Amino acid sequence: MLKRSEKNPKKDKIIGTNPISRRTFLLGTGAVIASGTLGIPFGKAFASNENFEARYYENINKDTVRCLLCPRRCVIPEGKRGYCEVRENRGGKLYSLTYGQPCALHLDPIEKKPFFHVLPGTKSFSLATVGCNIECKFCQNWQISQSTPEMIETKFRSPEQIVSKAHSLNAPSISFTYGEPVVFIEYVQDIAKKASAKGIKSLVVTNGFYRQKPLEDLCKVADAIKIDLKGFTNKYYRNICDAELKPVLDSILKVRSEGVWLEIVYLMLPTLNDSPIEIREMARWLVKNVGDNVPLHFSRFFPQYKLKDLPPTPFSSLETAYKICREEGLKFVYIGNVPRNETENTFCPACSKKIIERRGYNTKNIHIKNGCCTFCGEPIPGLWED
Ligand code: SF4
Repeated sequence: MLKRSEKNPKKDKIIGTNPISRRTFLLGTGAVIASGTLGIPFGKAFASNENFEARYYENINKDTVRCLLCPRRCVIPEGKRGYCEVRENRGGKLYSLTYGQPCALHLDPIEKKPFFHVLPGTKSFSLATVGCNIECKFCQNWQISQSTPEMIETKFRSPEQIVSKAHSLNAPSISFTYGEPVVFIEYVQDIAKKASAKGIKSLVVTNGFYRQKPLEDLCKVADAIKIDLKGFTNKYYRNICDAELKPVLDSILKVRSEGVWLEIVYLMLPTLNDSPIEIREMARWLVKNVGDNVPLHFSRFFPQYKLKDLPPTPFSSLETAYKICREEGLKFVYIGNVPRNETENTFCPACSKKIIERRGYNTKNIHIKNGCCTFCGEPIPGLWED
C-alpha cells in the first residue's frame, strides 16, 4: 500500500506550517463543538504529554520499529511517523501523539452514532482525536480524520477528566467516534476502564481496520462496537478507502465471537457500492457468519471531501438494498440519513409491532421491557436500560 505522503503529497506540506485554532477548525466541521465549551478544565498542555509510549509495536532494530496496531504494520524509522501520522518513532520507541488530546467533545444522541439497539433515547458523551489509518474519499469528518496533531490546537484531558465530565452530564455512555479510535486505542482503553468503574458504557465507532490482538484487547473494555463496512469488494476498499476488505470482515467476526454488542453501517455510494449482487452477497455473509439479528444500517451518501461530484444516493437504491437484506433474513435493517422514513423504526421480528419509534435522532414510544417486546414477549437483542 502507498504511504499517505506518497498518495497525498500536499499533506506533508501542511504539517507544522499553518496550524489553525481548534475552535476555528471545529466550527468549520459543523459536526462538533470545541471541548472547552463543555466546561472541562484544561489540563496540561500538549507538550507535557507528547511522550506517551504506544502499546502495540516491536523493534526491528535499535532505531526502527514496526507498529502492530493495524494491518498496515508500518515500519517506522527514527524520527518518522506511520501512515496515520499520529504515531511516531523517537529514539527507537513508538509514541502516540494524541493520547489525552481530544479535538472534539460533544454530547450527542446515541442514534447519531448510529446505535439503535443500545440505550435508545439517551445521550452519549462523544470524543475524537485527529488521525485515521485509512483514507475514505467520502469521509464526512475528514477535517478530523485527515489532520495531523500540529494542525489542530488541543489541550490535555486525562481519562479521569473525560469520565468525570460524562458523569456530571449524566451521560450513560462515552462514544469514541468522529475520527478513528484504533489510532488512539490506548486513550480509549484507559477511559473505558475508568468509565466502567462508574457504570458508564464505552461505545466504539470504527472502520474495523484492526489487527486481531489490539481488537481483542479493545473488546475486553468496550460494551458495543459499530463497524463501518464500507463495501463488499476488495476493489472498492482499495480504490475508495485505501484499505482492504478482509481485515474488516475478520474484525466483525472477532467482535461477534468476543460477545461485544455489534452493529454494522453500510454507507451506500451511487454506482460504487450499490450493486444488488454485492448487497445480497454481503447480507448472506452476515447471516451466515454473524447471525440474522445484527442491526444493519444503510446510510445515504451526500457529496463530501473528494467525491463532491457524485450525487446523493437515490432513495430507491436504499430501498432495494433494504428489501434484499430482509429477503435474506436479516431482522433489523435500517435506512439512515433519510428523514421520516418507516425503516428508521424498530419492529418486533415476531409480532411485527413497532417497538421503537424514531424521527431522525428523536426516539419515543419504546416498547421493550427486560429486553423483550412488551406486546408479545419476544427477546430483542441489544443493550437496553434496566
Ligand atoms: S496505526 Fe498508524 S502507524 Fe500503526 S500500522 Fe496503522 S497506520 Fe501504521
